Amino acid sequence: MKRLKAIRVRVYPTPEQERSFLRIAGCCRLVYNLGLIQRRDFWRQYRNVTGRGIGWHGQKRELTDLKALPEADFLREAPSHCLQMALQDLDTAYARFFGGLAGYPRPRRKGENDAFTFPDPAQIRVDVRDGRLVLPKFGRRRGDGGALRVRMHRRPFGELRRVTVSREGKHWYASILMRTRARQPQLPAPTAPDVVGIDRGVAAPFVTSGGASFGAATEGEHERKKQRRLSKALSRTQRGSRRREKARLRLLTHKSKMARRRRDRIHKITTELAKNHRIVAIEKLRVQAMTASARGTVEAPGRNVAQKGGLNREILDRGWGEFRRQLVYKLAWRGGQLLEVPAVNTSRTCAACGHVAAESRTSRDLFRCVACAHEDDADRNAAIEIRRRGLMALGLHENPAGTVGTARGALCDGMAMNREKKNDGINAKTSVDA
Ligand SMILES: [Zn+2]
Repeated sequence: MKRLKAIRVRVYPTPEQERSFLRIAGCCRLVYNLGLIQRRDFWRQYRNVTGRGIGWHGQKRELTDLKALPEADFLREAPSHCLQMALQDLDTAYARFFGGLAGYPRPRRKGENDAFTFPDPAQIRVDVRDGRLVLPKFGRRRGDGGALRVRMHRRPFGELRRVTVSREGKHWYASILMRTRARQPQLPAPTAPDVVGIDRGVAAPFVTSGGASFGAATEGEHERKKQRRLSKALSRTQRGSRRREKARLRLLTHKSKMARRRRDRIHKITTELAKNHRIVAIEKLRVQAMTASARGTVEAPGRNVAQKGGLNREILDRGWGEFRRQLVYKLAWRGGQLLEVPAVNTSRTCAACGHVAAESRTSRDLFRCVACAHEDDADRNAAIEIRRRGLMALGLHENPAGTVGTARGALCDGMAMNREKKNDGINAKTSVDA
């Protein structure tokens, strides 16, 4: 099995190199946006004239004509490969849209999408020992400012595929994509203990059916206050002023720092989960809610001030999408699987007897079943229900029908769960069966 893996390293460009980065990023953004306009507004005319639909190859050919225009002379500064990659990115964005995986492609914006990709491995050299990265236009000839200085915190492995340089806040990063060969692990058929359920918790973003919780306090009150303060400061500045630009940069820096922290945290959590569990069951994503929250982030930051109640939720939602994305590939590498189960009523269903009632959720964090009086942490109760749905989807049944649902059974369940909680066990129901 071929596996694509990337490492992301910090780049420390000289001021001259940074200017060059910004110029290349600007050219790529322009080409991307022009390509988007062409595909969005002129696809019918294009088809009438050429008899074909607009695609990557057609646009790539037109790129040569575009660069020949006197007013687009500056495009020659950017490596052709990078410009072509911008069009390929656009093609991918359209493919994702038509495949129902993403919304309609949006224009790239300065300050938010400053990135460009070098797709030819033959033109790239990574020097781990000296922490240098050689890219076309950087570090080849004398007088070009030398190779890029990078912090190689880990060794590249496998076959180099391409490098993407991007800006996040004030920092520049290079994402080095590599391809490795790995044998797909051959595992026996899964059994019930291989399955864990995970719910989005109230106190912590991720709660397992075993009662473990992950990711609490990634973003504290201090950070939220700072974000509010910075966005307020931004909204008080004059449009187009230098102070506004400074305030915008300060907010962006803060936000990207939080994003890095979250990403790091989620990576650690998903690695741990994938190491310890073969099959992870989560709720199916509500795609509409996801895109709605994404839309909120691009809007003027000033508007977020009014939505501070929703901020937390939004952070959680975005974390959830990333969490899911990482789990899919990390589990697959180990021969595991991510299961997505229907999300309906998971927080209102009793994990002991299966009774569904909104009243069972007595408070924000306590679940007390109105039918059988089973009591548990609300997040954990939902995680156990998600796990049960995962087991059903796999055709695995842990509790034969009839053994749960009686008052005694539920009580025993509750006792066992309490015990397990203290031991920080993986799975409460297994211990009941044992
Ligand atoms: Zn119950």
